[in-house]
Amino acid sequence: MLDQTYDSPKVKTIAGAKADWELVIGLEVHAQISSNAKLFSGASTKFGAEPNSNVAFVDAAMPGMLPVINEYCIEQAVRTGLGLKAQINLVSAFDRKNYFYPDLPQGYQISQLYQPIVGEGEVLVEMGDGTARLVRIERIHMEQDAGKSIHDMDPNMSFVDLNRTGVALMEIVSRPDIRGPEEAAAFVTKLRQILRYLGTCDGNMQNGNMRADVNVSICKPGQYEKYMETQDFSHLGTRCEIKNMNSMRFIQQAIDVEARRQIAIVEAGGTVSQETRLYDPDKGETRSMRSKEEAHDYRYFPDPDLLPLEIEQAWVDDIAASLPELPDDKKARFINDFSLTDYDASVLTADVESAHYYEAVAQGRDGKLAANWVINELFGRLKKEDHDISASPVSPAQLGGIIDLISSQAISGKIAKDLFEIVYTEGGDPAEIVEARGMKQVTDTGAIEAAVDEIIAANPAQVEKAKANPKLAGWFVGQVMKATGGKANPKAVNQIVSAKLGL
Ligand code: ADP
Ligand code: MG
Repeated sequence: MLDQTYDSPKVKTIAGAKADWELVIGLEVHAQISSNAKLFSGASTKFGAEPNSNVAFVDAAMPGMLPVINEYCIEQAVRTGLGLKAQINLVSAFDRKNYFYPDLPQGYQISQLYQPIVGEGEVLVEMGDGTARLVRIERIHMEQDAGKSIHDMDPNMSFVDLNRTGVALMEIVSRPDIRGPEEAAAFVTKLRQILRYLGTCDGNMQNGNMRADVNVSICKPGQYEKYMETQDFSHLGTRCEIKNMNSMRFIQQAIDVEARRQIAIVEAGGTVSQETRLYDPDKGETRSMRSKEEAHDYRYFPDPDLLPLEIEQAWVDDIAASLPELPDDKKARFINDFSLTDYDASVLTADVESAHYYEAVAQGRDGKLAANWVINELFGRLKKEDHDISASPVSPAQLGGIIDLISSQAISGKIAKDLFEIVYTEGGDPAEIVEARGMKQVTDTGAIEAAVDEIIAANPAQVEKAKANPKLAGWFVGQVMKATGGKANPKAVNQIVSAKLGL
């Protein structure tokens, strides 16, 4: 259930000409299952291969070829269901969804309409301001992807690439529990994060490995609560479905544009008709693709080539036992074990590589200090070069070594930044670098006193000013730091300067 520490996020309302309107959104997310082979054939799923090089006879629908289910894909779908705290159906079945398209040689797509492999689950969607909403998952089913038609290679001909044909997809369907554009993006982000933790989908939206159909409707305040009480959809407005969105930014824009379109229609006395639409980011509008009347009649029927899929509870239990720690749990543990803020814990658990990196640095050290260094210095530096954590030239052991030198006061915070830059660009052991290059902090008060005396003696006018205005003592501290190449312990310098000036 929703953690008691979270308030619900505010529902997005749009002021129309006549009234305020609320948004209701449900998403159907298509996620390509991470697997080396396709759902019903042994052909490779490698992205970017030579066109039509990853096609088995069954993918090309050669006569007499039969599909053979890929057990690993089933395991991945089950793992996903478990990660979304969903019900796993021990019996599911495959259906044929019939339609004609040149990139679909079978003339049908194998899907799971009536008996999906995964039932109801949930996703906790956090909004970054301490609020969160629990979005219900209705179902997850497995299906085949289609091929790709290519129209821009020749002025007179179209081409077909069947490499994608038969690749395993999961369709993850949410309930209409999402209440605004930002929440929709946060939902997809969270879902992607969970799938990546699980290793069941790489979440790459640019490659089309994750894409969403976005259902949008509008209603008057109070209507949604009636729907929630009764689960009766007649309390909600008529929805339109915006197909195939593959960017977080466009998802948000499309929802806003579509909601405003519907408000204008309803306020002018019209009715929204249920249809499938496409979002045009250049024009900033959605356009009708097909109306409900034109909707395909897919003539679904159980696939006679495939027996119902029966799996055993013991197998499901084994998969459950092997699940990794998931983002919500990891975040809670980081807050608890390393005394992190909610924000820092979110940043550090955003992807599993960052979380592992941080944990290796923080283990046995000051967790907050480690978080500062990983987030501000390391992530900041990586971002400059557009690298992600897996490309970090600084290992957790090296960063830990820098932090140890700070904690033992061997180096100052300022020198630590210089040291970090050296380790980042040249590599090496931090302690050895500090030793070899004489970067150690000067805590020897005698040496600091000598430096302070020298500067006071050389600047009598500044001394008079500082005595009148103690704030100016900072100037002396700065001079001493400069004279010692930034190596003097700043705390000691402060104390000695104050004492010598008689402040
Ligand atoms: P279909 O199979 O015709 O696409 P579904 O019942 O599977 O219909 O619903 C598809 C998606 O539409 C789901 O994500 C669901 O949450 C969403 N949805 C249903 N009704 C509404 C509504 N009134 N407003 C917004 N989204 C809705
Ligand atoms: Mg649907």
